[in-house]
Amino acid sequence: MTATATRVLVLNSGSSSVKYQLLDMADGRRLAVGLVERIGEENSRLVHTPLATGGEKRETEGAIADHETALKAVAAELSADGLGLDSPQLAAIGHRVVHGGLRFTEPTVIDDAVLKEIERLVPVAPLHNPANITGIRTAQALRPDLPQIAVFDTAFHSTMPEYAARYAIDVETADAHRVRRYGFHGTSHAYVSRRTAALLGQDPAEVNVIVLHLGNGASASAVAGGRCVDTSMGLTPLEGLVMGTRSGDIDPAVTFHLKRVAGMSADEIDELLNKKSGLLGLCGDNDMREIRRRIDEGDERAALAFDIYIHRLKKYIGAYYAVLGRVDAVVFTAGVGENAAPVREAAVAGLEELGLAVDAGLNAVRSDEPRLISPEYARVAVAVVPTDEELEIAQQTYALVSA
Ligand code: ADP
Repeated sequence: MTATATRVLVLNSGSSSVKYQLLDMADGRRLAVGLVERIGEENSRLVHTPLATGGEKRETEGAIADHETALKAVAAELSADGLGLDSPQLAAIGHRVVHGGLRFTEPTVIDDAVLKEIERLVPVAPLHNPANITGIRTAQALRPDLPQIAVFDTAFHSTMPEYAARYAIDVETADAHRVRRYGFHGTSHAYVSRRTAALLGQDPAEVNVIVLHLGNGASASAVAGGRCVDTSMGLTPLEGLVMGTRSGDIDPAVTFHLKRVAGMSADEIDELLNKKSGLLGLCGDNDMREIRRRIDEGDERAALAFDIYIHRLKKYIGAYYAVLGRVDAVVFTAGVGENAAPVREAAVAGLEELGLAVDAGLNAVRSDEPRLISPEYARVAVAVVPTDEELEIAQQTYALVSA
């Protein structure tokens, strides 16, 4: 790495999409952001915004067959703005990797052995790790000389005590198949809990925070003095809160019941619980904006879906309050958490005895800034802190390569 190499490209490779950001870590500035979606389909789309040049957003439609073609197209877009991957200013590429298992608890320089281990984790993250691996291989082929860093979604949760990480099932069976609670959205929980401490003007080591990451996927975590002590997602991102299309917690017997009674296969049940459940399964919509609109029109199914969503959220707030003993802040983040004031209001309604309340006026304010929404008198701060997983990945990547 040269002394002037301060840029980090962050790649988040999903099964049919690649999201990317190029950041300059000298000042934290975003130079370009974009995404390629519907990879493998006829109508793939690349949206690229060259922030550094102040240029207009550029959109290209047309078939992009695979991740390699997608990354090459991204590289071409970056080159067009003078930000190409061949730039000596590029210090590293930071990859979001969903599952790091037990081994990866820190950002890690990717070599063959690391890549093999990420591959070995595919059975516990079949939807995510394969896409991450493809993204890494493609980036390696484009810039073989550049450090490629893996930042794991599970890493922040590796501090969970054994009693929170283990399921109460036969230990030998669990260990033989690596069945335990890993947790996900870790970069978001890490970033948001730290940012919340800053908002309170305190050291992260001094505060206990309940983080509610409510996007399409959703998870809660209990963070004590900067360390995660519990989180709602488990072996896979299916456990916990009600999500856009995922059920979250259910009685595990539902799965064998469906197998025995409805004759569904494991794959069909997997698809049902991951893709056809949650808000979508309950009311036919997974977008909270649409659900709120339907509720305003008196739609009862949408109202019930909302109530189920809130009920689960409230149970986790209560559970993590008990786990932490003392709570300094409850913080909302991600698409729903940052934007849906009715969700925030409903989630803490009736919890005044726990020191939790939301100020209606503050809650209604729309802003991209971290902010408090609790009234002056409240014992526990309630906050909205926009998450920034890409910045967190870039910071962790840069810290590793510039150390
Ligand atoms: P992902 O998990 O895909 O990263 P996001 O964190 O971007 O998801 O959240 C996406 C979700 O945020 C949408 O599905 C929608 O439910 C919700 N959302 C976005 N904007 C709003 C809004 N203005 N009001 C309510 N919900 C919103």
